[in-house]
Amino acid sequence: MRYKNQAFDVPVDTAAVAQAAFPKGNPYMTMRDEIGPLYDDSHFAHLFSHAGRRGESPGNLALVLVMQHMEGLTDQQAADAVRSRIDWKYALGLELTDAGFDRTVLVNFRKRLLAGSEELALLEHMLARFQEMGYLKGQGKQRTDSTHVLAATRELNRLELVGETMRHALEASARVAPPWLQQQATPEWFGRYGRRLDQYRLPDTKKERQELAEVIGQNGVELLQAVYATKTTPELKSLPEVEGLRQVWVQQYLLQEGEVRWRRPDDRPPGERLIQSPHDLEARYSQKGGGANWTGYKVHFTETCDRDKPRLVTHVLTTPSTVPDSQVTTTIQQDLGANGLSPAEHYVDAGYIDAGNLVESIDTAIDLIGPIQPDSNWQGRDLQAFDLSCFTIDWQAQQATCPMGEKSVSWSPGHDNYDHEITHVRFARATCAACPQRERCTRAKKNGRSLKLRTKTEHEARQRAWQRQETSTFKEKYKRRAGVEGLISQGVRRSGLRRTPYIGLAKTHLHNILVAAATNLTRVVAWLEGSYPAQTRVSAFQALAPST
Ligand code: SF4
Repeated sequence: MRYKNQAFDVPVDTAAVAQAAFPKGNPYMTMRDEIGPLYDDSHFAHLFSHAGRRGESPGNLALVLVMQHMEGLTDQQAADAVRSRIDWKYALGLELTDAGFDRTVLVNFRKRLLAGSEELALLEHMLARFQEMGYLKGQGKQRTDSTHVLAATRELNRLELVGETMRHALEASARVAPPWLQQQATPEWFGRYGRRLDQYRLPDTKKERQELAEVIGQNGVELLQAVYATKTTPELKSLPEVEGLRQVWVQQYLLQEGEVRWRRPDDRPPGERLIQSPHDLEARYSQKGGGANWTGYKVHFTETCDRDKPRLVTHVLTTPSTVPDSQVTTTIQQDLGANGLSPAEHYVDAGYIDAGNLVESIDTAIDLIGPIQPDSNWQGRDLQAFDLSCFTIDWQAQQATCPMGEKSVSWSPGHDNYDHEITHVRFARATCAACPQRERCTRAKKNGRSLKLRTKTEHEARQRAWQRQETSTFKEKYKRRAGVEGLISQGVRRSGLRRTPYIGLAKTHLHNILVAAATNLTRVVAWLEGSYPAQTRVSAFQALAPST
């Protein structure tokens, strides 16, 4: 298959006009001259049919997607830029007369990337080129941070959710099987679901809202029963909107003695499974530590932070908003290792560290650097109290010794709710009751102090990390993590990182990868033009502070 346009050399006319238009240079010209064509057609050729007429160069389309995110352009604006801007033509190696393409070509290219699971190729081929250029190497320093990404849907309360889910399923069914739906729908359905179910149209009292929710529930069950019973239009069953209706109904309603009942709030599935909108079934509701909440996703970026090289994003991970940071640390490190980009030092905040991934980091020879969270119980929060670090554990004898020199009296291995191996350790009630330091140790009225231990390896890794983070060397070293906020801020300002323009996790992930690729390209071009990352600014007064 031949493609239009991809050429290593910039056409002579384009080069002459670009040099006249930008006598002092231009970032896109620097990019083309110093980096060369980043993507080759062969990287993406397998996503296209080998028959039919000549298509646009896949390598160039990939680069256009990245350039689009460098400037935060819409598809239409990006297609216009390809057609009309000299610097874009130079970067893409196009003839001056090249008419470009319709914006739908970009839409289709993104679809092909997702269908072929090739979205990561946009970042990987770029990183491979930067490795060739000496800007990237394994065994350096990298840091990871995450930020929230709002779903491209409206926030809905529970009543709006069920009403909107029903309306969405009816709209989809009406497009696929209009005569069939006309037979099923009652006159009330047209009044109730003909328009979007907004808050202002809903009843005020709790009782009326409950009644309406159960009427909607009954209507949904009737629609689902009709869809599953029909032999004339079996395709209705496989509509995503109908499947969404089924899933939302399972989560929000109960069938009791033939009646459809709205579930109580405490009788619904946990947050990680709870659908928030029929328009994006994968977006989840989550709350941050500070109380801020959002519905959508979370993106984790990992970037290099060696001082003698441009800072480059090496890894992007998008998850539902409910996945804790500590659950992705190992995945990120394994992915980096698989691409030959394992860092020697990995800087993260406390959310990414738990005993398990401290041990896994040791196994992969990565120094995971960050503060570990204190014990979640009150002893961990009170500086005067005896937390776990105050106890000596003899794993062989299966016994703990408390700060007052007393020995534990029971040792019971088991598992916690997350299936982690744990051991419950107890001290004798009578011993603790007579202890002069009891107030610093336990608030249990009827029992002695109890401890919950992870495995020996995890416990020891945690203790070592705890001791290390108290040192001034660690505190100085850990300052390196702070700059990662600059990456998030760049993504937010240039590419609207905090609100996905797409529906669903896969498309949101593609968007996040493009934000990362655009950031990398911007940074390398800036580096090539002699603009190096600024160190964190220190005020004139702070600069006078004695070093610790
Ligand atoms: S309360 Fe019990 S476990 Fe705690 S220090 Fe006193 S004797 Fe030891």
